[in-house]
This record gives sequence, C-alpha cells and structure tokens, in this order.
Amino acid sequence: MTQAVARIGMFGGTFDPVHLGHLRSAVELREALMLDCVHMIPAPSPPLRGVPQVDASQRLALLEAGVGDTPGLKVDARELDRVGPSYSVDTLSELRAEYGPSARLVMAVGVDAFSRFAQWERLEALFELAHVVVMARPGYDTPWSDALRELLGHREVDDVAALMASPSGGILVLSLPSRIDVSATELRERLADGRSVRYLLPDAVERAIVAQKLYRR
Ligand code: ATP
Repeated sequence: MTQAVARIGMFGGTFDPVHLGHLRSAVELREALMLDCVHMIPAPSPPLRGVPQVDASQRLALLEAGVGDTPGLKVDARELDRVGPSYSVDTLSELRAEYGPSARLVMAVGVDAFSRFAQWERLEALFELAHVVVMARPGYDTPWSDALRELLGHREVDDVAALMASPSGGILVLSLPSRIDVSATELRERLADGRSVRYLLPDAVERAIVAQKLYRR
C-alpha cells in the first residue's frame, strides 16, 4: 500500500492488556483509511486514567506478542522513554517531524476516549498536527458534551476522502465493521477471577500472561 503521500495512523492506549478489540480495530482502521502503517503506542501512565495494573515494559511485551507479524501494525515504544506525563500532542509532533508536512497523520481513539477529549492537552496544536478518527465501540452511546459538539461542529467531515484531502485538522466518526465488545477492564476481572479469556485476546498474549502470572488477584 504505497501512495504518493504517506498515510500514517497512531493508535495509543494503555493496553492493560492488549485485546482483540484493539487489534481488530487497528487492522480495520488501516484498511478503511488505506494507511501505510499504524503506530501502536503504549502509554506509560496515561494522564486521564488510573495507574495501570501492569508496568509499562510488560504491557509493551504483551503488545508485541499480540501484534506479532500483522502487516502494517508497528509497535512503537517511544512514549516509554518519556519523563513525566505522556501527551498525544507530543507524540504526534514527533511523528509529524518524521513523516513530513504533507503526510496524512491520523490519531485513532475509541468513542469512550473521545468523550474525555475536551480535557486533552493542547487541542489546537493537536489538530494542526493530525486528524482524529473516532471509532464506534459497542456499549458506549453517551451523547456528546457541549464542548465536544463545538469541536465536531468546526471539524467533522463525512468520509475518508474528505479527511484525506488535507494533512490534519479534521474529525471523522467511523463505524468499523467488527465492533468487538471487549475491554481491558473485563479481561483484568476475568484473569483475577481465574475465568477464561480465550478468544478475547491473541493466544500469544494469553500465553505470556499465564507464563508471567500477570493480572492475578
Ligand atoms: P480499559 O477497559 O482498561 O479502560 P480499554 O479496553 O478501553 O481499557 P485502552 O488501552 O484504554 O483499552 O484503549 C486504547 C484505545 O483503544 C482507546 O482509544 C479505546 O477507546 C480503544 N478501544 C479499546 N477497546 C476497544 C474496542 N473493543 N473497540 C474499539 N476501540 C477500542
């Protein structure tokens, strides 16, 4: 999938642990937007969430096991080297410097993460650097807040072609085909209770969790 202008995705998360909802969404996002690659970027300590249950290097190893050789997905550990809170705007700034001014840079967030978006750091700067794609997720249908509606009002586009007409600045709300109803919270609870997580995350991730005795109560 090589195009004249690079199309790059950023899929950040806590990945505590990575599951099929993340991975299938990343694959379908790449297909829907015809992205050259999607950077899968674990956050060491996400600013708007509680402390992750498993440390960042172990979450990174699980992500690597989960992504494996999936074409077009690239595990990217850059935020783990950062001191202090890691903000997406800083990561996008690095990606923009690497791919150049005409690349189409797209940050993907699930609709649950987008519902807190008005609190994110330096939003104006973020939209100068990238587009935002909001992925629908089963069970999250809360109405947009006024602040989000205002953001959408300025920036929302109707389809991929309109989004890709410029390097950054737009928002596209996208319903990807699979919409897998799995959350890391549910997986942590299952693992703590000793219940099965089979088929909710890749086998390699399950094996690594069991081998390292992670997420046990
Ligand atoms: P938790 O249950 O601990 O909140 P999570 O399953 O939401 O975790 P995160 O690592 O917080 O996983 O999510 C990273 C990104 O992936 C977020 O933008 C989130 O909205 C998105 N995401 C997570 N699960 C899904 C899913 N099943 N389908 C689509 N997007 C998802």
